Amino acid sequence: MTETLPQTLPQTLPQIGDWADFATLAKLQRERLPAILELAAKSPFYRARAATTGVPVPQTYEDFIAGPLTTKDDLRGAYPYGMLAVPAQRLATYHESSGTAGNPTPSYYTAEDWVDLAERYARKHVPIQASDVFFVRTPYALMITGHLAHAAARMHGAMVVPGDNRSLAMPYSRVVRVLHDVGVTLTWSMATETLLWAAAARANGWEPGRDFPALRALFVGGEPLSPARRKRISEVWGVPVVEEYGSTETGSLAGECPQGNLHLWSDRALFEVYDPETGVTGTEGKGQLVVTPLYREAMPLLRYNIADDVEVSYVDCACGWQLPTVRVLGRSSFAYPVQGARITQARLEELVFALPAEHEVLFWRAKAEPDRLRIEIEVPARHRDDAVAVLTDDVRAEYGITAEVTGVAPGSLVPLDVLTAVQDVVKPRALFGPGEDWDKALLYA
Ligand SMILES: [Zn+2]
Repeated sequence: MTETLPQTLPQTLPQIGDWADFATLAKLQRERLPAILELAAKSPFYRARAATTGVPVPQTYEDFIAGPLTTKDDLRGAYPYGMLAVPAQRLATYHESSGTAGNPTPSYYTAEDWVDLAERYARKHVPIQASDVFFVRTPYALMITGHLAHAAARMHGAMVVPGDNRSLAMPYSRVVRVLHDVGVTLTWSMATETLLWAAAARANGWEPGRDFPALRALFVGGEPLSPARRKRISEVWGVPVVEEYGSTETGSLAGECPQGNLHLWSDRALFEVYDPETGVTGTEGKGQLVVTPLYREAMPLLRYNIADDVEVSYVDCACGWQLPTVRVLGRSSFAYPVQGARITQARLEELVFALPAEHEVLFWRAKAEPDRLRIEIEVPARHRDDAVAVLTDDVRAEYGITAEVTGVAPGSLVPLDVLTAVQDVVKPRALFGPGEDWDKALLYA
């Protein structure tokens, strides 16, 4: 797929700078919308919905905005090809979101869709260049994320090192060896991964900020990231951390500007904010993010509710992009009550990573119960008393409660052998010789 990707962009895709202000941007969206509505009319799902409700697939912006949302359940109900709006032979890739039980959430794209996808992902203020060695450390199986970064890096001529984070073939010892020996310049992963690499580097005798001189930036996404944790990751590795937000059903939806703000790609998709309590949608404020991709043909989505909690604002940013900013709250904004205080992961993460860098705290966990809050931090013995005292004080100052903070030895939360193990993954075989363990017949590893 990546090899057949056009190297130049179709002229039809808007680029940052094509509009001067939010009003022009809105005009651009409305001009594009009819093409998407026309495509949606070819989708069996939207045709069936029109037939059931008696309300035709919308043809104008006003009809569209008054129409129903498309939900994740709708996508599941249309599994596998109920949303398909082009001849099946035009499809380039098929994906599913990571999910729980029941029908999967499918998504599929044409080669033309892939140009928009790859180009959106590649919008980074640390640009991907032909000289880059790009390490992809997100899943390749079914999900889009690995392929997205792969395609974007190839589009810009970089060399890709595929390093899937869910593959037996790529334990952490191998990750840090590749980062070090192959001269990786850019990486793509969840933020948590970069801390695991730091610990794995140290476990293998390397210092992250010193022994990886080729590294230019860490691209991260897939989980909420507090400013303090992001700052710590950047300090540990000595390079910028560049954030990105998206989903398998849509690809990249927002990226970071040089000012460090996350902007929605509103030239490529129309965004709304849905309040599940009132059922009202608007263009800004807090609520669930609703997205209508504007340059997607295989699987048109009208007002797709991603159901991530976000806050969208239309404010001028010094970057001059004239794109709305978004704060992704996700599950990290979910509050557990403890002694009357409302404890969120986002705020606790902020407090943990506000500890002085020299305490070397990278990993933590907490358990919130109605009458007690337990927090464990991994911290070397020489800093343990200090780190525990500071965090206990900070939690008390923030929440007015006394948490049970415990400093545990490094390796307690993230076992050392996970960071250092060199697992051999071999191809399956059936015939074994004397003294060999044939219990592994036909299976990997
Ligand atoms: Zn900006």
